[in-house]
Amino acid sequence: MKVMKFGGTSVGSVESLLNLKNIVNQEPEPVLVVVSAMGGFTNQLLAMCEQAQQRDISCLDTLEAARKRHHDAIDGVVVESMRGQVHATIDRFIDESLKPYYLALATNPHMPVDEIERVCDAIVAHGEILSSAIVTGMFENGVPHLSLNYMRTVPDGHGRILDWEETGRLVKADYASLADGGVHVAQGFISRDKQSGDVTNLGRGGSDYTAAILATLLDAEALEIWTDVDGFMTADPRTHPDATVIPQMTYAQAQEMCDAGAKVIYPPTIAPVAMKNIPVWVKNTFNPSAPGTIIVNS
Ligand code: ASP
Ligand code: MG
Repeated sequence: MKVMKFGGTSVGSVESLLNLKNIVNQEPEPVLVVVSAMGGFTNQLLAMCEQAQQRDISCLDTLEAARKRHHDAIDGVVVESMRGQVHATIDRFIDESLKPYYLALATNPHMPVDEIERVCDAIVAHGEILSSAIVTGMFENGVPHLSLNYMRTVPDGHGRILDWEETGRLVKADYASLADGGVHVAQGFISRDKQSGDVTNLGRGGSDYTAAILATLLDAEALEIWTDVDGFMTADPRTHPDATVIPQMTYAQAQEMCDAGAKVIYPPTIAPVAMKNIPVWVKNTFNPSAPGTIIVNS
């Protein structure tokens, strides 16, 4: 079983979602697809949090534009028999969850700082919740998962880290039906605090890490990171037009490039898959026939 992660621009438009569908349909089932929010939507959700705190209600206009963007994507990609249901899901999360959260921020000037953080973490999780509803609806045999049900974090200094033990136990239970086949779809990025149950996340860009965690816990044969570049490059192609794709690298080399700021993969992604020797492919959703980069211990 492969874990295939699609992020940002790969889930940004009808065109890219149709590419995703073609790519996934070529895989034997079961397959596990991990998705990020629609390109740019996470930034928008956070910007709207700022606006709401300033009592700037125009954030609700941005929310309506985002609603339209999701509905347009549904009309373009979701199988007809599922469309009504997915449209309703999007509206429900916007009207019954996002709007009340933004209104609470905008109308409660005395909200304590930790409460504001809690609300904004809950808000930002909707990027992946909405995009995954659309992606699941693209496949006749789509099987929805909710990463809030099994990804568990614990506080670590000022941040959070994954609780591998608890997450492992919950993931194995949640994915017990994997062997039956189907296109399984999960949200990257989002999690819950182990103790409080509050919605948390794995940090900006964290969907790659979610995919690596699931690949590791479910013993995937490979992890594929589908993005909008042909792979790791020898240099930044914007400043070095002669840069070429690196066809193969070791986990250590990939880790080094990520730590040095290569934006291709979120740095924490490498370690878990390296431990289990799971090969990682970096591939381009917009140029799927390009060979990409493979990360393995040669
Ligand atoms: N949507 C989240 C972000 O923009 C997670 C991700 O894209 O990997 O940071
Ligand atoms: Mg993103």
